[in-house]
Amino acid sequence: MKSAEELAEHFKKFPGVGPRQAKRFVYHLLTVARGNAARIADLISALPGETAVCPECKRFFAKDKNNLCPICRDPRRERNTLAIVCRDVDIEAIEKSGSFRGRYFVLGGTIPILDNAPERHVRLKELILMVSKAASSPDNALAEIILATNASPEGDHTADIIKASLAPIAAKSKFRISTLGRGLSTGTELEYADSDTIGNALRNRKDNSR
Ligand SMILES: [Zn+2]
Repeated sequence: MKSAEELAEHFKKFPGVGPRQAKRFVYHLLTVARGNAARIADLISALPGETAVCPECKRFFAKDKNNLCPICRDPRRERNTLAIVCRDVDIEAIEKSGSFRGRYFVLGGTIPILDNAPERHVRLKELILMVSKAASSPDNALAEIILATNASPEGDHTADIIKASLAPIAAKSKFRISTLGRGLSTGTELEYADSDTIGNALRNRKDNSR
């Protein structure tokens, strides 16, 4: 069963999926009706064509005639506050809380502790470019960057590296860098936090600029 083994290898790389679960997924696909399995395969193939990456915030969104995602092109969103998140799902969690009116930037991952090549894991160069541009734009002065990372050692480490990378621009352009207040208990991933907890963490955020 060459395809089954290869498929299991792919499933193993999915977030939160281990080798045993990967095999269970493969067996599940073998037991569902042929039509369903074919439909799943079709949906996976269609996904890249139906989605686009927003050139501003780097999140995935359903492709339409617009270049920017619905949040970046919304004139009602505050342009002076930027939340930096690790993954697209974190945006969903924060949006659901209804406690944030600014814009986002998706890093695309976290930086593992003891790793000295952060660019391999997150969009650091793109972030620096985006922030420099926003900070120097005369009409949209950036006032605050919120590092909205998970309350985990890796999340904290990622926030530390990002903060250090942005500190020179922050000092020059006079914007604050803050982190989420820990209404989020240690180990909490934003993705699984409820809206009240996220709202509190945003309200109690701490200024980390100095
Ligand atoms: Zn966007």
